[in-house]
Amino acid sequence: MNAVQQQFPYRENNEVKHRRWSVDVKAAASLAGINAERFSVELADMAVHFPRWILTVSQHHALVRCQKCDGMVIFDRGARCVACDVKASRLPGAARPAWFGVMPPIGIDGLARIKDGLLARPPKGHVVGHREGLGNYLLVPLVVTYPPQFPLSPVEVFYLPEFRTIPGMPQEEVSHAFHMVGHGKMSLFAAGEWIPEMGARTTLQQRAYAHVVKFLNYANGKRNAFAVVS
Ligand SMILES: [Zn+2]
Repeated sequence: MNAVQQQFPYRENNEVKHRRWSVDVKAAASLAGINAERFSVELADMAVHFPRWILTVSQHHALVRCQKCDGMVIFDRGARCVACDVKASRLPGAARPAWFGVMPPIGIDGLARIKDGLLARPPKGHVVGHREGLGNYLLVPLVVTYPPQFPLSPVEVFYLPEFRTIPGMPQEEVSHAFHMVGHGKMSLFAAGEWIPEMGARTTLQQRAYAHVVKFLNYANGKRNAFAVVS
C-alpha cells in the first residue's frame, strides 16, 4: 500500500508554504492499539475523501499540542510537532490518534435567526465564506478519534467547544433532543447500527455531516431538527 502523504500550510516571509510528510502508520496504529493494516485502510480512505484532514493526537475533543511551541502533533517518524519538529515524547495516557479538519461547506442563508451573528462573529476555528451558487456558508471543524475498542466500537466525533457559542445553541452537554452525549461528543449510532467495516470517512459522510446541519437548524429554532422522519 502506498504511503499516505499529508501537508500543513504555514507562513514564512509573507508566503504560504507547506510542510509535507508521509504518515507514520505504525506509530499511529500503535497509539490507537489498532492493527496497522486496518489503520492503513482508514488512512487511505480519508486521503481520498477528506484529503486536507490531518491525523493528529487528541484527548476527547482537545488536540494535544507541542509542549515547546503549541504546534499541532503529526505522525511523521513517530509523533512530532508540525512546526518545530520536536518529538512528542510524553503523550498523556488518554491520548488517541485523531483526525482534525473542517466539514464540507454548509449553506447558512436559510438559517435566518443565526446567519447574521455567524457572519459577523464566526466562532474561533470556524470559517464563513460566500460562494456563487451556494451563497453564504459555514465550515465546521470536527475531531474524530478512535476508541480503544475500535473497530468493534464506532469512531467518536466531537465538536470544538466554540461551536456552542453560536447564537441559539443550547448549552446542555447531554441531550436526546439534539443527540449529544457530553464533552462535545455527537451521538451518531443507535445500538446495532455500527458495523466494524465502517470508519472515520463513512461516519463523517453518512452521520456527522447531517448532525452538524441538524444542530444548526436546532439553533435556528427548529426544535424537532433531530426527529426521525418516518
Ligand atoms: Zn513545536
